[in-house]
Formats: sequence, structure tokens, C-alpha cells
Amino acid sequence: MSGLVGVYGHPEAANLVYLGLYALQHRGQMGAGIVASDGQRMPWHRGLGLVSDVFDREIIQQLKGASAIGHNSNSSHELAQNMQPLVFELGEDGLAIAHSGNFTNASELRRQYGEKGAIFQSRTDTEILAHLMAGYRGGIVDQVKHALSVVRGAYSLLFLNRTSMIATRDPHGFRPLVLGRMHEATIVASETCALDLVGAEYVREIEPGEVLVVTKDGLQSFYVVSAHPSTRCIFEYVYFARPDSIVYGRNVYQVRKEFGRQLAREHPVDADIVVPVPDSGVPAALGYAEQSGLPLEFGLVRNHYVWRTLIEPHDAIRHFGAKVKLNAQREVLAGKSVVVVDDSIVRGTTSRKIVTMLRAAGAKAVHMRIGSPPTKCGCYHGNTPNSNELIASNKSTETIRDFIAADSLAYLSELGMYAALKADECSGFCSTCFMQ
Ligand code: AMP
Repeated sequence: MSGLVGVYGHPEAANLVYLGLYALQHRGQMGAGIVASDGQRMPWHRGLGLVSDVFDREIIQQLKGASAIGHNSNSSHELAQNMQPLVFELGEDGLAIAHSGNFTNASELRRQYGEKGAIFQSRTDTEILAHLMAGYRGGIVDQVKHALSVVRGAYSLLFLNRTSMIATRDPHGFRPLVLGRMHEATIVASETCALDLVGAEYVREIEPGEVLVVTKDGLQSFYVVSAHPSTRCIFEYVYFARPDSIVYGRNVYQVRKEFGRQLAREHPVDADIVVPVPDSGVPAALGYAEQSGLPLEFGLVRNHYVWRTLIEPHDAIRHFGAKVKLNAQREVLAGKSVVVVDDSIVRGTTSRKIVTMLRAAGAKAVHMRIGSPPTKCGCYHGNTPNSNELIASNKSTETIRDFIAADSLAYLSELGMYAALKADECSGFCSTCFMQ
């Protein structure tokens, strides 16, 4: 998962991209980068850290030009050279690429190019695109067409050269990408919250398999690979996307709230209050509370400034890691039977700490409710950890309940999830993470 923003046809393109990346910070905190184009030069800047750490006013002012693309990285390759957009000298027009996703045939392609003597400057899958494009004659559009006909996997991509910007989404539509307008300028972004911040108007989703070319003559849209059955990542609705975004045509907050309502129908509890795990569990908890008629109380409060490593005193503080992020309010919890709602359980360590924390603050009973089905299978597109790290991959709900020490534990069913989405079973979504 990464964040993408591109702007074409605005005198402050880099500044708008910077703001868009700021709105999409939740999609990647490892590093960020922006490449601009003024039609002749393509200045760029990349670095490790949050958007606000990587850029300052002076740097943004140096990124001159009416078009720019940017990227928030979640890469595990913690070196600045692996941050994006990647920039290449390609023909007369230069090339920058920003990529959210991975290619399932990346290792095979890397090996093939390696055997031919190609040198890679990064560990990213993205760089393969540059090699595919460089080996193909023609302009950027033909080169992109060729590269897309070779790579497989889940991706949203932005390309920039001196004269054009290209945005594309994989033929299954696994990753979100939306199109917006701002006066004469075109803007594309992973989520609509980036459009909102800069005051752009949401036009539509970029369609699965669509290649959108933006030049001074306007927008041109075509499809390289014929339509595939769409498999949009359902975890965008569970956890990845910001609740104020429209993803796959729906407001994420309302979807999550509906998951909570359905969860309450499926797994009611005789309790005193509903407590969300902030922030990701809030909409589902609200839906649960509304459906069950129980009051919603913020029994857990989150510190929003926990990005940087903290120095713990020698005398270890009990449950330090959990307390840094969340604090349980005794005044709200003491003597209460609590339904605590979170969006998902991955390794189970957070839930375990939360249950301990709620009990330590006086909760009489703790009933854990999860607004998605058990996450059992590692994502082959790299969105969730490997199966061996997922507690539900080989443990029953009862064993997990025992591990997290809750009085009861229940998950939203997969059918319930589709019912909440008012979709036919599995229609158009990838939900392999819920399969054994
Ligand atoms: P865990 O302690 O590993 O069970 O983490 C559970 C928490 O991680 C939940 O509260 C989710 O909000 C969050 N979460 C869910 N999916 C992911 C993911 N792919 N990467 C990071 N955090 C996640």
C-alpha cells in the first residue's frame, strides 16, 4: 500500500501534490517523494520519513513546473534510493514513475534483465517498468502500453515526462485511484481525501485497466489489457482507506458503520457500553451502538503523535508500548460490561493489550467484536503480513479469545460483510485474506 498524487496543468503543481501526499500519509509513512516538470527540467526530491519531515517550503519552491507526481512509501527497503517516484533519463523527455502495488512476475523479470546485464538502482518492482519501456521504440504512450502488457499484479501507477502525465490502474482494479478537476488542472490520487484537501472536485474512479493520458491537449483514455473480472481489495474498506474517502464509489465511513450494524445483528451482547478502538474501530463501533441501542463511550483515548521512537526509562513501565498509543479511562469503564469494537485482528497483540488495559481500568467484562471476518491468509499483493504471522491462520476463534483474554470474541461474517455492502457474494472484491 502506498499513496499516489499527480497534478497536471497548475502553476503550483508540486505544492498541491505535497498537500495531497499529506492527506494520504496513512498509506505510507516510510518515505515520500515528488517529481515536477516545467516542460524542460524535471526537478525532484525524495527522502525517508513523513511528508512533513521530507519537504519544507524551500524544497517545494525548487520543484518548479505545471505538472508533478508524488508518492508516499510503505516500503520495507529502508533506503532513500528505494523511495519513489523513481527518475530516469529516457530519450529526450525524461521519465518519472510512482507505483502503488507490486508485480507478481517481478522476480522473474528482474532475473531476465539481470542476465542481460541490466543494472538496477533500487530494490523496487517499479524499476522493471523503466527497463521494459527503455527497450521499446516509440513515445511514452506506446512504451507504457508495452510495459503494462508484460507486468502482472496489483498496481496503480503514475508516469510523468516533460510533456505528459499518465495514470493507470491494473485490469482487476485491485488498488484505488481517482480522477479530479481543479479549474483547468487535472488531479489524480489514491483516495478522494487528497482531492478534498486541495479543493479539487471528484470526477470519477480511474477504471480498472484504464490508461489515462493527460497532455496540454486534454485527456485521452484507453485500455491496454482487456477487461478482467474486478477484484478490488476489500481491506480498503476494513482498514486501509481514510473514512472520509470515497473508495470504489462508496464513502468508507458509511461502509464501516454498516459493517458495525451488521456485526451487532450477528453478535449482540448484553452489555452497558460500546467502546471503539480509536481510530480505525470508531465507525464500526458507532454502527454497533446505533443498532444495539447501547451508548457509545470513548473509554480508550488515542495519542495521535506516536510516529517517532520513544526512549523508555530503565525501570520498565507496565504495558508501555500499548499505553504510548492508547489510554483507558477509568471514569468511563469502572464497573461496566464493555463491548469493545475494532476493525480487524492481525497478530492479536493489540487486542490482547487492549483487553488487559480495559480490565485494569475497572471493566467488569470485556466482549471483543471485530468489524471484519478473521484475517487468515497473507495477502499475495503484500497488503497484510504473511499467513504465519496472522493469529487466525491456524487458531480457532475460541483459542484467540483465550489468547486475548476476553469474555467473548466474535467477528463479522463474510456474508454479513457483503450484505452490509449490499453486494452479491464476493462480487467484484478480492477477499483472499479471509480464506484459509
Ligand atoms: P495486531 O496487534 O497485529 O492484531 O494489530 C491489529 C491492529 O492493526 C488493528 O487494530 C488494525 O487497525 C491494524 N491493522 C489491520 N491491518 C493492518 C495492516 N495490514 N497493517 C498494519 N496494521 C493493520
